[in-house]
Amino acid sequence: MRNHRTAIAGTAAAASLALALTACGQSGAGGSKEKQGDAKGGTIGVAMPTKSSERWISDGANVVKDLQAKGYKTKLVYGEDDPEQQVSQIENLITQGVKGLIVAAIDNKSLDHVLQEAADAHIPVISYDRLILGTRNVDYYASFDNEKVGRLQGTYIVHKLGLDSGKKGPFSIELFAGSNDDNNTRYFFEGAMSVLKPYLDDKRLVVRSGQTALNKVTTLRWDGATAQRRMDDILTSSYKSERVDAVLSPYDGISIGVLSALKSDGYGSGNKPLPVITGQDAELASVKSIIAGEQTQTVYKDLRKLAEVASTMLDDVLNGRKPKVNDVKSYDNGAKVVPSYLLQPVSVDRSNYEEVLVKGGYYTDAQLR
Ligand code: BGC
Repeated sequence: MRNHRTAIAGTAAAASLALALTACGQSGAGGSKEKQGDAKGGTIGVAMPTKSSERWISDGANVVKDLQAKGYKTKLVYGEDDPEQQVSQIENLITQGVKGLIVAAIDNKSLDHVLQEAADAHIPVISYDRLILGTRNVDYYASFDNEKVGRLQGTYIVHKLGLDSGKKGPFSIELFAGSNDDNNTRYFFEGAMSVLKPYLDDKRLVVRSGQTALNKVTTLRWDGATAQRRMDDILTSSYKSERVDAVLSPYDGISIGVLSALKSDGYGSGNKPLPVITGQDAELASVKSIIAGEQTQTVYKDLRKLAEVASTMLDDVLNGRKPKVNDVKSYDNGAKVVPSYLLQPVSVDRSNYEEVLVKGGYYTDAQLR
């Protein structure tokens, strides 16, 4: 499912996508035909996890654009959700003599060895959106307030079901989480559960599948098709005459998978309305789905700002300046607390998508039609 997602998030992202894809196609790890330009700062390696999700295509494009504007050349690589491929791509970037690295990890624990090689070569590393664990060789972390992402999803469900205005339910909810090798997964889930737990405890919310522990609800590599299969199984095993009222989904690609399973089971027609279903990333297909009344909510994270933060951090480090951070305690990666700059996520649904996404210049009206 996610592989079929090709639309591009963000006007800025769209404008620079062609450039980024060119950079990617021409110079993937091992390549050498990097677009020449004013490159006073040398070359920066940018390692992104996958092109199967629209957001990471935008991230790559945005970071490349920002670094080039600061006078760097770039080598952008995508690991296609294969941790070993990402390690060897980063090894190649180091061999090619990059001056700095910006890395969005696939498996947060797989980069220890290769980042030691980076440290030995005095290459600073910015951990991009997903914290790299278990190594001191991460200089800074640029991300969003990830726990808040989960809280926004949980709060949305509580509000939409009317639980915060006295409705007693009980309402049925099913829980989905992200990939177990992504550090963000825990933050999203714990943030959401911090809001949902009181209602689960007093049974106003009921998880009929019984699958509530994080290790029972993760979705390897955030794959929509995997989530679809799990939702199919849950519907078959745990819902006979009962109805699902809400689904906690951590990511738009998962929401789309869950929606497919629900629709195949007759939800969205007759007397079976679709449940409240959350998401994340404001990907184009999901924003369209929200407008069409299917997915209910998403969490928008302005990727243009994230790219700007990460590339400015690296530029600062390379120029002997201290990067601006706003959190020096939340993100302990097991080897050290990584100084972080966390941006603010925003809950988006049908009522505010125009204000936030269109007026905010992330999508044009035409893209959403
Ligand atoms: C990111 C999310 C994204 C997910 C799947 C997470 O690490 O923070 O924005 O939805 O990965 O790509």
